[in-house]
Amino acid sequence: MSALEAAVPVQPTYARQDVTLVEGAGCWVFGPAGERYLDLLAGIAVVGLGHRHPAPHAAAAVQLDRLWHVSNLYWTEPMLELAGRLSDRFGGAQTFFCNSGTEAVEAALKWARRASGKPGIVALENSFHGRTMGALAATGQPAKRAPFAPLVPGVTFARANDIDSLHRAAGPDAGCILLEPVQGEGGVHPLSPEFLAEARALADELGAYLVLDEVQTGVGRTGTFFAWEHLGTEQLGVKPDAVTLAKGLANGLPIGALLVADGLPGFEPGDHGSTFGGNPVVCAAARAVCDAIDEELLANVEERSAQLTAGLEQLGAVLEVRGRGLLLGAELDRPAAPVVDAARERGVLVGTAGERTLRLTPPLVLSAEEAAIGLETIEEVLS
Ligand code: PLP
Repeated sequence: MSALEAAVPVQPTYARQDVTLVEGAGCWVFGPAGERYLDLLAGIAVVGLGHRHPAPHAAAAVQLDRLWHVSNLYWTEPMLELAGRLSDRFGGAQTFFCNSGTEAVEAALKWARRASGKPGIVALENSFHGRTMGALAATGQPAKRAPFAPLVPGVTFARANDIDSLHRAAGPDAGCILLEPVQGEGGVHPLSPEFLAEARALADELGAYLVLDEVQTGVGRTGTFFAWEHLGTEQLGVKPDAVTLAKGLANGLPIGALLVADGLPGFEPGDHGSTFGGNPVVCAAARAVCDAIDEELLANVEERSAQLTAGLEQLGAVLEVRGRGLLLGAELDRPAAPVVDAARERGVLVGTAGERTLRLTPPLVLSAEEAAIGLETIEEVLS
């Protein structure tokens, strides 16, 4: 625990860095004395449009002047409009709104249980789905789960990209196969299209639902609005039954969403709920985010991804670069945490995903010049 954490009345759940940030603009954040940092982490894959982007900022400001909250006992315009945008992006879906990624996963687990009538959940080793008891039960990282056992029963784990192990993990009780298209927290490991196609086929065979956890990969992060859209272009035709979103959806305001494909059984009144879910201010911001994710922005994601990947691959200390779009992990020949500290001291914020993986999840609006600054600093730190 740092000296600052020992002195403040905040639970020490995070290995927080002793830095206070007071302002942000685009891909930059600022400390109280005007210190500036290039933000290549974006609040862990959240601030996709950059800090204080004018579109969600204006939309939230207009809504703040109209109506803040009425509960889910009534309709609000921003919530309906956002649900419409998400349905269009998905190709027909009904959304349940909540406030975080873990809540979206929790909703997905409850929905799949309700709709399939079966209790089994198949997840992957090394996955991360959140911290509530259900989402944690499906998180394939024993160290995170152990202190809180017993968790929700019925979860079996397969190895990522190992089709045999997927078959072994999925029995007739399985009602839900829950996968991250790119494992984020677990070290930035993309699932292969073949593995996802097999998961789709297996879910159909077993009468289970394929749920993709796109909390980290969604909303443009991998170069398409949903990461699964890449699979369509690879002619495997994989489409999930349900998708979870959170992080980037409202560019930093708290939101989570479960999208369930049209035509599937859904929740009934009283099955699930959230007081704040679908909050009109947050939904107004998220609607503006959805409208801002256009071809030009997605092309920038691919271009900056190629630039960062090529730059990182040239560094001697980088053994491998993994990921998709602007969800990148550089496997180092050394522990990543000291690299994060040294980069921050030189004015660049990056993160880790596992002990030796440096994680880059910058704003999707990152410019070529900003990417070059980041690469130069990482090179200095690693040389
Ligand atoms: N699912 C995935 C894939 C995540 O990456 C995360 C957070 O990192 C979560 C769920 C949990 O989201 P939250 O921290 O908003 O509860």
